[in-house]
Amino acid sequence: MTMPVLELDRVSKAYPGQPPVKALDQASLAVAAGELVAVTGPSGSGKSTLLHLMGTLDRPTNGSVRVTGIDVARMRDRDLAALRASRLGFVFQRFFLAEHRSALANVADGLLYAGVHRRERRALAAHALSVVGLGHRTEARPAQLSGGERQRVAIARAIAGRPPVLLADEPTGNLDSATGAAILALLEDLSRQGTTIVIITHDPAVAARTRRRIDMLDGRITADRS
Ligand code: ADP
Repeated sequence: MTMPVLELDRVSKAYPGQPPVKALDQASLAVAAGELVAVTGPSGSGKSTLLHLMGTLDRPTNGSVRVTGIDVARMRDRDLAALRASRLGFVFQRFFLAEHRSALANVADGLLYAGVHRRERRALAAHALSVVGLGHRTEARPAQLSGGERQRVAIARAIAGRPPVLLADEPTGNLDSATGAAILALLEDLSRQGTTIVIITHDPAVAARTRRRIDMLDGRITADRS
């Protein structure tokens, strides 16, 4: 494998309690550039914890996390925020769009923390919306869009800054199966164009379509097939 884009080495995450909860237990994996990976497992198996640690939204109790080769362990919060803004895109089950803002503004606002100037933000946002098939709906507000279209806006927001890595937590969880399949097809397209994508899902239809699949149970990676 060329230098992995994401690399976890024996990463654990424990939450205090009696007894403590081992949300993640010695998980190791490496994801290469352009891979599309599905992470599956029952509720509570540690999928979101894994995604949060990969995305530097949370810090491990033990083990190391590298994003595009950079060890994030000792980075300060503001440096982590800069790393996220330039290298990581996030998509969630809930779309988190501002209701009173247009699709274009929602996507452009996502670039505020990347230090991009306003005109450039709008140009990148318009391009990202055209990539997700919404080039004709840039002025629509979220309430005027279907669930699938809203998730496309959220994906456009995640990819507008052209991050090498996209992390998606149940991106089809709120969508009917046909719409979910279309969103997955879009993610497959982005992966073919070189974006590394990790999708958390408990939807077997999603997991069946990706080349690589990682199964989790009780905070451990129990299978990693490609
Ligand atoms: P999944 O995404 O597979 O549903 P999670 O990663 O959300 O699983 O959770 C893994 C385990 O860690 C669960 O037992 C959950 O209750 C626990 N957990 C997750 N976040 C916290 C937290 N902030 N505090 C305490 N326990 C947590």
